[in-house]
Amino acid sequence: PTVFIIHVSKGDSMSEANECLFCKIIAGEIPSNTVFEDDSTIAFSDIHPKAKVHVLIVPKKHYATVAELAQRDPSELSHMVGIAKSIADKEFHGAYRLIFNTGEDAGQSVFHVHAHVLTGEVLAE
Ligand code: C5P
Repeated sequence: PTVFIIHVSKGDSMSEANECLFCKIIAGEIPSNTVFEDDSTIAFSDIHPKAKVHVLIVPKKHYATVAELAQRDPSELSHMVGIAKSIADKEFHGAYRLIFNTGEDAGQSVFHVHAHVLTGEVLAE
């Protein structure tokens, strides 16, 4: 008999597409409240908002953390910062907080890089 060995390791595009929650949202397999989308990036409302406006900005390509993104695709990182500004310009005269939780011990629960944009109201320290 012919035996096929399929090797899927963490980081393969196949395992990302199958297992990554944000890859599934990007693929349209899980619904989201999308507030912005272009060829490289999507932004949608966080399901557990921590401010009046709480949006996640997510590159469509899978990078695990902001450190990996900064190394491998710095122009995407600056694109995300521009999107954060335009959301805050519309929602709250350009005032916003931008957070990248990085690592489980810092509160990162989804290992597909995302910027939290908190805006829409005066934020407590
Ligand atoms: O920084 P961290 O990885 O914890 O952020 C993940 C965020 O994704 C959380 O704020 C969580 O509320 C949000 N989330 C979401 N939709 C899902 C699952 C998680 O907006 N289906």
